[in-house]
Amino acid sequence: MITLRGKSVFGGIARGTLVFYRRDEVRISKLKVNDYSREWKRYCKAKEHAIEELEQLRIQAADEVGEDDAQIFYIHGLILEDSQYENLIADHILRQKCNAEYAVAVAGRTMAKLMRDSDSEYIRERQSDVKDVSDRLLRHLQNRANTEFKLDGISIVCADDLMPSETVMLDKSKVAAFCTRGGSTNSHTAILARTMNIPALIGMGDSLIDEYEGRYAIVDGYSGVIYIEPDDMTVRLMQQKEEEEGRKRELLLRLRGRKNVTRDGREFQVYANIGSLSDLRSAIDNDAGGIGLFRSEFMYLQRDDFPDEEELFYNYRRVIEEMKGKRVVIRTLDIGADKNVDYFELDKETNPALGIRAIRLCLKRQDIFRTQLRALLRASAYGDLAILIPMIIDVDEVYRVKNILNRVKDELIDKGIPIGENVELGVMIETPASVMLSDLLAKEVDFFSIGTNDLEQYTLAIDRQNPHYESIVPPNHLAVLRMIKVVCDNAHAHGKKVCICGEMGADLSMTEIFLDMHVDSLSVAPPQILPLRKMIRSLNLSDRRQIHQNIQKTLHY
Ligand code: PEP
Ligand code: MG
Repeated sequence: MITLRGKSVFGGIARGTLVFYRRDEVRISKLKVNDYSREWKRYCKAKEHAIEELEQLRIQAADEVGEDDAQIFYIHGLILEDSQYENLIADHILRQKCNAEYAVAVAGRTMAKLMRDSDSEYIRERQSDVKDVSDRLLRHLQNRANTEFKLDGISIVCADDLMPSETVMLDKSKVAAFCTRGGSTNSHTAILARTMNIPALIGMGDSLIDEYEGRYAIVDGYSGVIYIEPDDMTVRLMQQKEEEEGRKRELLLRLRGRKNVTRDGREFQVYANIGSLSDLRSAIDNDAGGIGLFRSEFMYLQRDDFPDEEELFYNYRRVIEEMKGKRVVIRTLDIGADKNVDYFELDKETNPALGIRAIRLCLKRQDIFRTQLRALLRASAYGDLAILIPMIIDVDEVYRVKNILNRVKDELIDKGIPIGENVELGVMIETPASVMLSDLLAKEVDFFSIGTNDLEQYTLAIDRQNPHYESIVPPNHLAVLRMIKVVCDNAHAHGKKVCICGEMGADLSMTEIFLDMHVDSLSVAPPQILPLRKMIRSLNLSDRRQIHQNIQKTLHY
C-alpha cells in the first residue's frame, strides 16, 4: 500500500482507478494557402480514413453493445457525407483558400449552430455528433491518435492541475475524486469539486507520479490522504469512516425544512452557489434558501461556440422555475483569467487575471453582453431574479451597465415581451477598489455580493491558482475581514444588503463574526448549506457587548 497526502478541498470517501489527465493541446489557426487543391486532397484523404474508422467502430460496437446503439457510428458517417457540411468545407478551402484544418473547424461550428437553431429536437440533439465528426476529421488531418480524454470506469482523476473548462467537460458520473499536484483551495476546480460533491485533494506535489496510473485507490477526503492499493485493514477503516460520516450526514438532513435562525431568533438566509443546471438538484436537496450565485460563465465553458439567447433563456428560466419563487442571483459572464475558451478569441495577455475579464470584457464585447441580458430579463418574468455584475472597480462601470440594461429592457417592452417587475441589480465586491468605493456603489445598486476568493487574490497580491497560496496566505486575513466590515457598514448605511458568496462564507469558524458584522446572507456550495444551518442554529447573538468585543478582538480595532 502507498500512502500519499494532499490538502483536502472537499471531504468524502471515494474509490476508483487512478487515471492521469492528458491534454490534447491542439490549436487550429487560420492559414492562407496557395496550393488549395493540395488542401482539398488532404481533406478527402482524412474523410476517407474517418469513414473507414467509423465503419470499424460500428462493427465493434454492434458486437459489444448491440446494433441499435452502434447506429450512432452510421449516423456519423452520414454527417461526413452530408452535402451542406461538405459545401461549407469546400467553400473555405477552394474559394477562400484556407487550410483544411480551419475549414473543417469552421464548418463544424457553423453546422452545430444551424442545428442548435432547428425547430426539431432530434436535430438539435445531433449537434454534439457534428462536433465529434469534425474532431475525427481534424485528428486525421493532423495525423493524431485518438487522444480524446475519456473515462472508462469509475476513476480518480489525477493531474498537475485542471482548468475549469477541462473539469466541466469530464463525465462526472465516472469521476470518484480529483487529485492534483498543484492547485489551491480557491481555484475554480476546487470550487467545482465542492459544488459537485466530489472529494478532492490538491497540492500533492511530485509524490503523485504517472506510474500509479491504472492502480486501485481510496481517497479519504476528510483527512487529505490517498491510499494506493490499500491493504485490508485500510479498506475496513475507510468503510467504517464512510458509515460514520453517512450517519452524521443523516443527522444534518434532519435540518431540512428548518429555519436558519440563531438561538436568540435572528433569521439569516443561506443560499447555494451553482455553476450549471446539473447542480440545481443538489441545491434543492440541501434545502437552499435560493441561489445566491449562479456562475453563468460555466455554461460558456462546456462548448465550442457561443450559446444563443434561446438556450440561455431556457437555462435561466429552468433555474428560476425550479427554485419556485425563491431568490435566484445570476451573475453575468465572468469569463477571462482562468476561465477561458477558444471561441471567445481573447487577446493573449501576460497576466489575464489582471486583464480584460468579466465586466470589462462584457463592456467591450457588448453583443455578447446584450444577448445575455436579454435572456436574463426574459427569464425574470418567471420568478425572483437578481442580476449580479462581477469585477466592478468603478462607479462609471455601473452607470454603463445600467445604461445597456435599460436599453435592453426598453427593447423587450417595446416588443411586448414580459419581464419581471423588480429585477434587482447587484455588484460583486471582489476588488479593493470596489471596497473603497462601496459607499458610492451602494447608492447605485440594490445589493452587494462579496467574492472573497478574488478579494483575497487582489488584496493580498497572490494568484488564487498559485500552488503555494495556502503556505503564503494566512486563512481569513485581517485585511480581508476588515474590508468585509467596511462593505457591510457602507451598504447598511444606504439600506442595502450584503451577501458573501466566496469560499470564506462556508468557513464555520467565521460564521459568528459574519453575523456579528451583520452580513445579511451567505451563499455556499450546496453540500455546505446544512453544516452552516447547524452552526447558525447553535449561535446566540443576544449579548451586544459580547458582539462588540468579538468584532474588536477579531478585527483588532
Ligand atoms: C469570488 O471571487 O469569491 C467569487 C465568488 O467568484 P469566483 O470564485 O467565481 O471568481
Ligand atoms: Mg470572483
